[in-house]
Amino acid sequence: MAPGTSLNDEAGCGSAKHAMTLIAILDDRVTNRNIFSRLAATLEEGAEVQAFGDPCEALAALANADPDLVITDFKMPNMDGAEFTRRFRALPHGADIPVIVITVYEDRGFRLRALEAGATDFLQSPVDHQEFITRARNLLKLSKQQRLIKSRALSLESELAASERSRQALLRDSRERLVQVIDTIPAMISATDESGAYIFINAYQAQFSGVDPAQCAGIDPVATFGPAYAARSRALDRLVFEGGEALPAYEEEIIDRSGMPRVFLTTKSPLHDETNTVVGVLTSAIDITERKQAESRLRHIAHHDSLTRLPNRLLLQHRLQRELARDRRGGRLFALHFIDLDRFKEINDAFGHQFGDQLLHAVAGRLSHLTRESDTVARLGGDEFAILQTDLRDSDDAAALARQVVEVLSQPFGIEGQTLTLSASIGITIYPRDGSVLDELLRNADLAMYRAKSDGGAGFRFYCADMNQSVREAIRLEADLRQAVAENQFVLHFQPQVNVESGQIIGMEALLRWERPGVGLVKPGEFLSLAEETGLIMPINTWVLREACRQARAWRERGLPPLRLAINLSPVQFRRQNVYELVLQALDDTGIDPHYLELELTETILMENAEASVKTLRALQALGVTFAIDDFGTGYSSLSYVKNFPVDRLKIDQSFVRNLKTDPSDTAIVRAIINLGHSLAIQVVAEGVETREQFTQLAAEGCDEVQGYLFAPPLSAADFEALIVKDRALPHPV
Ligand code: C2E
Ligand code: MG
Ligand code: MG
Repeated sequence: MAPGTSLNDEAGCGSAKHAMTLIAILDDRVTNRNIFSRLAATLEEGAEVQAFGDPCEALAALANADPDLVITDFKMPNMDGAEFTRRFRALPHGADIPVIVITVYEDRGFRLRALEAGATDFLQSPVDHQEFITRARNLLKLSKQQRLIKSRALSLESELAASERSRQALLRDSRERLVQVIDTIPAMISATDESGAYIFINAYQAQFSGVDPAQCAGIDPVATFGPAYAARSRALDRLVFEGGEALPAYEEEIIDRSGMPRVFLTTKSPLHDETNTVVGVLTSAIDITERKQAESRLRHIAHHDSLTRLPNRLLLQHRLQRELARDRRGGRLFALHFIDLDRFKEINDAFGHQFGDQLLHAVAGRLSHLTRESDTVARLGGDEFAILQTDLRDSDDAAALARQVVEVLSQPFGIEGQTLTLSASIGITIYPRDGSVLDELLRNADLAMYRAKSDGGAGFRFYCADMNQSVREAIRLEADLRQAVAENQFVLHFQPQVNVESGQIIGMEALLRWERPGVGLVKPGEFLSLAEETGLIMPINTWVLREACRQARAWRERGLPPLRLAINLSPVQFRRQNVYELVLQALDDTGIDPHYLELELTETILMENAEASVKTLRALQALGVTFAIDDFGTGYSSLSYVKNFPVDRLKIDQSFVRNLKTDPSDTAIVRAIINLGHSLAIQVVAEGVETREQFTQLAAEGCDEVQGYLFAPPLSAADFEALIVKDRALPHPV
């Protein structure tokens, strides 16, 4: 196998493969040229030999060829071998190709010149053929190896360059893509260096801050978002630099270019270099303003009453909790007012829910006006409100506020062209005296309110420990009263009314009694206001009306003389029942003569919804029914009632009768009522006459009728019947 072949094989299919071996011979003598050419041709099979006689001609030819070996004579006429070698070496490909110089001189100077010019080896002339072949073959082999190495290095280099180019392209590409992606994220993304200046900002941040992303490098965030943001951001950046770890996400407010504050959810994480050193901070801030606004809207809805816009029970509880939490060290004092409007349900029923809503709205407005910024007015539901009054000096402050609440609510409200007044019952608890936890404070305030209500409303009560007991009793009373209605545990007693002049019983008042199991006979004073509050008065009084008429009818049937029958009506009935229908029904059902039926009205009945009341009364009057104003003198005692309503009798309240002898002003009032009645042709009855003195004095003043223990207390139907049967005429006291 020829050496050239093996070399080519080693080169494989490399890109630097040298097509054919080329050997150049230069000698000015033809004989030498031929010998050397022949020898060179044997060096490798298929090798091409080019022989030249003139160095210049050779250089010109070799400038375009690429020989593997050059063999040159030293001594030539125009140019010696050293000069030729030097010039050949200067050719673009001449540097690495072996050059053998053939010299006859053994002179060291010539050889040095040749070496300096770049000769690779020497051959002594006359040339030993075997040496020529050996040396030439060795150098040829070396040249080929060098050529191969060089070509491999070259191809490797170009491969490397190509892969580096594609790597760079890829990198550039992916970086661009990354930036594109980052630019589409709807969040501010920026990178800052150790000095806090920007390295990079994305499109969103650019738009938000007005900074050109291409110009952002080196810009301080202070220039975009102001000093407060910059200081905060820098301090947090330092934490990232020092800790080398991402910070937990936090919310921050950033002012936008139009000066509007917006809320961002921000995270900061470190940027590392190849050696894992932190070289920057990546900040991403997501705009959560809309989400926060939606959240706060939802929170507002969840924490406020939609009708009055006041805080609701939930928010009140939060505020209470906050106050409790603030008192870790003790010494704080605050009050919780539990406010319930009196008789709101009736107003709602009478005027409609829309009217009721407007009234609640107006109440909310007045309460809010009354309180300080630090207090909380809340609507707990229905007609229940609460005030959390903070920073009290003592309970007097709470009493003062409660008094103001009662006062402002008692001022007339004008709604839908109607004017009406309200009252409220207020229960107050003081922290920490009346409770140390929320539920306890609320519950006790509720209890105190309940007490204020059962004491007649229109006032306030501070909670005290024994209320638990009395409220429990009140709650039991209500349950029992409901049962009383269901089981009809009521009876009627009858109290005679006596004509002053004749001493004859001319009438009777039906008075309600409750046979409460386990308690005995209970008078209306103990359950009437509860019955009115709960509306139970309606079934009760419907029964009273019918039962009284039934009893009167039974007495008539048994031959007793006809007596006027007086029945008490409740304002609640006028508000919520059709009184005309009710009375008509009772008359129809029992068949008694309407002329013997008298209805006792209170001033409240006449005052409220006066127009409707007048109509009802006139219709009943047309049937023959008569009317008395009960407890006259205790209410407004307005002359207009007496004038506008079909009044037949005034009943002087027993409180004026009681002190007739001792209190001259009571005497004056009694006299005034009698005169007023008589001047309008209205009869006057005195209630609660207990003594002869009272009777004498009333008789002297011209009072028409009397009713009281002096003659008889309210009696059971049987006792009353016995009394009438025994003696229609009571012993005349005078
Ligand atoms: P009223 O209509 O003023 O009835 C008179 C009250 O005075 C009765 O009290 C009666 O027992 C009491 N009385 C009578 N004579 C004397 C006396 O000489 N001295 C004293 N100290 N009291 C006397 P009673 O039966 O407890 O009724 C209280 C109130 O309850 C009644 O006052 C009336 O407003 C109301 N009431 C009674 N029955 C009914 C009823 O069926 N329906 C309604 N809505 N109210 C009723
Ligand atoms: Mg009465
Ligand atoms: Mg009375």
